[in-house]
Amino acid sequence: MKLLVTGGCGFIGTNFIRLMLDKHPDWSVVNLDKLTYAGNRLNLLDLEENENRYEFVHGDIRDRDLIMDLLAGNRIDAVVNFAAESHVDRSIDDPSPFVSTNVAGAQNLMECARRRKTARFVHVSTDEVYGTLGKTGKFTEKTPLAPNSPYSASKAGADMMARAYFETYGFPVLITRCSNNYGPYQFPEKLIPLMFLNAKEGKPLPVYGDGMNVRDWIFVDDHCLGVELTLTKGREGRVYNFGGDAEETNIAVVRTLLSILGKPDSLISYVTDRPGHDRRYAMDFSLARRELGFAPSVDFEDGLKKTLNWYEANTEWLNQVQSGEYRNFMDNWYKER
Ligand code: NAD
Repeated sequence: MKLLVTGGCGFIGTNFIRLMLDKHPDWSVVNLDKLTYAGNRLNLLDLEENENRYEFVHGDIRDRDLIMDLLAGNRIDAVVNFAAESHVDRSIDDPSPFVSTNVAGAQNLMECARRRKTARFVHVSTDEVYGTLGKTGKFTEKTPLAPNSPYSASKAGADMMARAYFETYGFPVLITRCSNNYGPYQFPEKLIPLMFLNAKEGKPLPVYGDGMNVRDWIFVDDHCLGVELTLTKGREGRVYNFGGDAEETNIAVVRTLLSILGKPDSLISYVTDRPGHDRRYAMDFSLARRELGFAPSVDFEDGLKKTLNWYEANTEWLNQVQSGEYRNFMDNWYKER
C-alpha cells in the first residue's frame, strides 16, 4: 500500500510511520509535513537517508496544488491525516491557526482526495470532541459532539466535514477518535514529557486546578495499531473510538512519574485551572474491539516507564527540540547538500 501520511514529523505520525514501515515490507510512505514548531524532520532522518520506501515532502495540507500533485496518477492508495495544531493551551491563546489547519486543511485534503478518487482516507481525531463526562459513563461513537476548547471545536469541525463528505459524495473516509497518547517523541509542552523535564531539573511540576481531571491514557503504539486496523479493516463512513483502558487523574500520573524517577512529591505545584478544562474523558471502544479486533496491549505503568526510559536515553533530542536547535541543524543540513 502506498500511503500519504500528513503530519508525520509530529509525535504520533513519527511513531506511526516507523511502525508501519517496519511491519509492512510492501508499504511505502510519503510524509507531508509543514514543520511547525511541533514537527521535527530529524525524527525520521534515518529513514530519509536509508529507506527508499520513505519520502519526505515539506508542505502544507492547505496547499491545493501540492496535494493534487501528490495524489495524481496512482501514486497514493490511501491518506492518513495526522496533521494538526494539537495543543489546547495554544488554541486558547489563539484559535485562528487551529481553524485554518484543522478544519480548512482537513477539508482541502479530503477535497483533493475526492477529486483524485483516492481509495481510502483515515482522519485522525480525538476524544476531546465529545466534551466532558461526569463521574460515570463513557463516550461512545454515538455521544453527541460537545467540544469545549477551540482545539476540540476545530477537530469536531473536521469530523463533521468528514461525515458530510461521506454522506454527500460517498467519499471513503473513516474517522478515529482516540484518548490521550503518551510515548517517545512527544513534544515537551504536553503533560508527561513536560513533567519529566521539570522533575529532572528539580523545577516545580505545574498541575492544573485540583489535579483531579481524569484522562484515559494510551501508549502511542496502541493508537497507531488502531489507526492501522481502521485503514485496513474499517468500514467506510464509520467512526471508531480508541482508548487505553487506563483512566487516571492528572495528579496520579504526576505522582507515578515522580515515584518512577525517584523524585519527591514536594515538586508538585498547583496552578490556576485552564479555562473550560474538561473534567473527565473515558472511552468505550467496544465497536473497535468487535469490528476491528482492537485491544490495547500496554499497561499504563509499564508504558510510562518505557516512555521515561526513552526520554532518559534521548536527552539530546529533548534539548534540540526545546532550544529549536534542530531547526538550525536542519537549515545547515540542507545547505550542506
Ligand atoms: P503534533 O502536534 O505532535 O504533530 C502535528 C504535526 O502536524 C507536526 O509535525 C506539524 O508540523 C504538522 N502540521 C501542523 N500543521 C500542518 C499543516 N498545515 N500542514 C502540514 N503539516 C502540519 O500532534 P500529535 O500529538 O502527533 O497528534 C497528531 C494527530 O492526532 C492530531 O490530529 C491530533 O488532533 C490527533 N490526536 C492526538 C492525541 C494526543 O494525545 N496527542 C490524541 C488523539 C488524537
